[in-house]
Amino acid sequence: MEALHQKIREEGIVLSDQVLKVDAFLNHQIDPALMQLIGNEFATLFADSGITKIVTIEASGIAPAIMTGLKLGVPVIFARKHQSLTLTENLLSATVYSFTKQVESTVAISPRHLNSSDRVLVIDDFLANGKASQALISIIKQAGASVVGIGIVIEKSFQGGRAELDAQGYRVESLARVKSLAGGVVTFVE
Ligand code: 5GP
Repeated sequence: MEALHQKIREEGIVLSDQVLKVDAFLNHQIDPALMQLIGNEFATLFADSGITKIVTIEASGIAPAIMTGLKLGVPVIFARKHQSLTLTENLLSATVYSFTKQVESTVAISPRHLNSSDRVLVIDDFLANGKASQALISIIKQAGASVVGIGIVIEKSFQGGRAELDAQGYRVESLARVKSLAGGVVTFVE
């Protein structure tokens, strides 16, 4: 997606060979117009997939997920990372090792919002080793729902997440595929 590639080139900051900082438009300050383009793109890619729900993970997946849900006309559920006094029922949950924070945490969704007839699109901001996506897939399966596909804003193709999801047979659509961050330079997959 050219607008996203351009934004990454102009405003992305390479923190190391492994980590790209995009706080200027996705992870802290958010560019709503770009999020809308991203939502439209995911909606087009999955238009014929019969999606009934979108599942993401707080906080940075929410903006692209909301715009996709708006375009597809379906609800968006975000897995919560923190205990809440209002989430009192038995939760669907999974543990996830955070690539950026390097700690393990539990993410959870209320079973009230997912059921076995749901066809779910998973959306996330980044795909690195795939731990966040795998945790969401686990939660969706616990609800008996189907994972129809995975939409990723920025995939780091040099890490293992994509290959694992491919091997499991999931449809993965990434709007930017980063081949390398070596030498402080962002190189995209052609
Ligand atoms: P994974 O679970 O696939 O290993 O990592 C994906 C999660 O880690 C994303 O939800 C994202 O929040 C975070 N993440 C992974 N790599 C990066 C990165 O290079 N930059 C930023 N800002 N976040 C990342």
